[in-house]
Amino acid sequence: MGEVTPPFWERPLDTLDGTEWEALCDGCGQCCLHKLEDADTGEIYETDVACTLLDVCTARCTDYPNRKAKVPDCLQLTRETAGTLPWLPETCAYRLRAEGKPLYDWHYLISGSRETIIEAGVSAAGRVISEDEVDAIEDHVRIEGFEAIRVEDDEE
Ligand code: SF4
Ligand code: SF4
Repeated sequence: MGEVTPPFWERPLDTLDGTEWEALCDGCGQCCLHKLEDADTGEIYETDVACTLLDVCTARCTDYPNRKAKVPDCLQLTRETAGTLPWLPETCAYRLRAEGKPLYDWHYLISGSRETIIEAGVSAAGRVISEDEVDAIEDHVRIEGFEAIRVEDDEE
């Protein structure tokens, strides 16, 4: 009997073709949220403010083919960078596979449903606000989960 080839989401990232690479994304939308970096410490703070192109209801990019032209700093994940970006969520499928870890059961490739990531509380869908609606991103730093917190104003 020949060896059974594992499904692509269990294979090393450098063996995936373009279609498989794209399909690996769980669609959480978390990488499309603004982060703030403390200039002094280098610490990165997550916010619940989404890129202008993110559909905040579905957590999907509304113009994926043209995203680089419209949002120049939209990050293009590659097989080389997937395991090197500390701000990628620990649940990110690319990060997990770059670290040799399996996908979570809620990933649509495992569960067969796009709803399970929402039920698991991992998707940004319906839990974030567009940058177009926000005056100061600093007011939208979040800590655990997607509970937005207001940053207290400095004492006068
Ligand atoms: S352009 Fe699209 S893929 Fe890029 S950060 Fe914005 S919403 Fe996400
Ligand atoms: S964090 Fe990773 S899995 Fe989630 S949308 Fe971004 S690239 Fe896809």
